[in-house]
Amino acid sequence: MEYGSIADIAKKHGARISYNEIIAPYTSFNIGGVCDVIVVPNSAECICEIVSECREKGIRYYFLGKCTNILVSDDGLRGVVIIAGGDYNSVRREGNDLICDAGASLTRICNTAKNESLTGMEFAYGIPGSAGGGLYMNAGAFGGEMKDVVLYCDYLDTDGSIKRMGKEEMQLSYRHSIFTGTDRIILSVCFELGPGVKDEIAAKMNDIMQRRRDKQPLEYPSAGSTFKRPDGAFAARLIQDSGLKGYVVGGAQVSEKHSGFVINRGGATCDDVCRIIDDIKEKVYADSGIQLECELIKMG
Ligand SMILES: Cc1cc2nc3c(=O)[nH]c(=O)nc-3n(C[C@H](O)[C@H](O)[C@H](O)COP(=O)(O)OP(=O)(O)OC[C@H]3O[C@@H](n4cnc5c(N)ncnc54)[C@H](O)[C@@H]3O)c2cc1C
Repeated sequence: MEYGSIADIAKKHGARISYNEIIAPYTSFNIGGVCDVIVVPNSAECICEIVSECREKGIRYYFLGKCTNILVSDDGLRGVVIIAGGDYNSVRREGNDLICDAGASLTRICNTAKNESLTGMEFAYGIPGSAGGGLYMNAGAFGGEMKDVVLYCDYLDTDGSIKRMGKEEMQLSYRHSIFTGTDRIILSVCFELGPGVKDEIAAKMNDIMQRRRDKQPLEYPSAGSTFKRPDGAFAARLIQDSGLKGYVVGGAQVSEKHSGFVINRGGATCDDVCRIIDDIKEKVYADSGIQLECELIKMG
């Protein structure tokens, strides 16, 4: 079998592996077709061995976190799709730091911080991604971003070695890090937090979550904000001003609640979303002269 050696590694580590599985249910958009192989690794060792094997054998591979910022092709993905998560999600405290597996969800990290009376992470509550995906994107919200809290990360470099990188080297800027567009795999992330008061942390998190519920179409599948914030403008406002609020293509729609979100109203395909994105870009550019850039990442 073409993927026999990958299956052997997965089996050795007790990781879940599947063939010809539809990826849609793994994604927050609930979109994406049949993938050749999906592996859900349960340790850094398992990740490193699978990635090294793919690199050595020239097998195409994708490394994903919680799949909340991606749009996968209706044809799925060829090769090996590695989805961090499963049991690769530990969060442990050292002093005022939280050391998190790349697959740990930001929600779990925020809740751990709260329970440990550590403050600094509250802004990330409700971002549905992972520690690794969050750092890769320099995810941010409500005036905070990963850049404010990350201390260092461990990653698998392209030469197969595991290295540690401090924040100052990470080139963190708006939805960008040194990892963006590279083949380096983030294995774990250390967040530097400070002592806080549990009830105050909880109150801030609840407030943030309520503001998300009030403003964002969380009742529908999506990949969050479709576009990056352009300099000096807001994507949602531009889209609204172009008369595209509620605009529908197939099963996809510009959210009526928040024009910055394209939602899956049910049965949306990747093609539907791509057409909406193209239409939005064209109309907004024609109306405002501003070129919107996608925040979500198209795969396949
Ligand atoms: C309802 C909703 C609300 C959202 N709100 C926000 C928000 O407020 N702020 C915000 O910034 N984002 C937001 N997002 C987008 C998304 O949750 C973030 O970008 C998140 O950080 C993505 O993490 P992920 O684990 O899902 O990454 P994925 O979507 O799985 O992957 C995103 C990219 O990161 C890469 N990647 C993932 N893990 C690793 C790793 N360990 N090593 C190397 N590369 C990796 C992938 O290859 C891919 O290129 C929202 C999304 C939704 C659906």
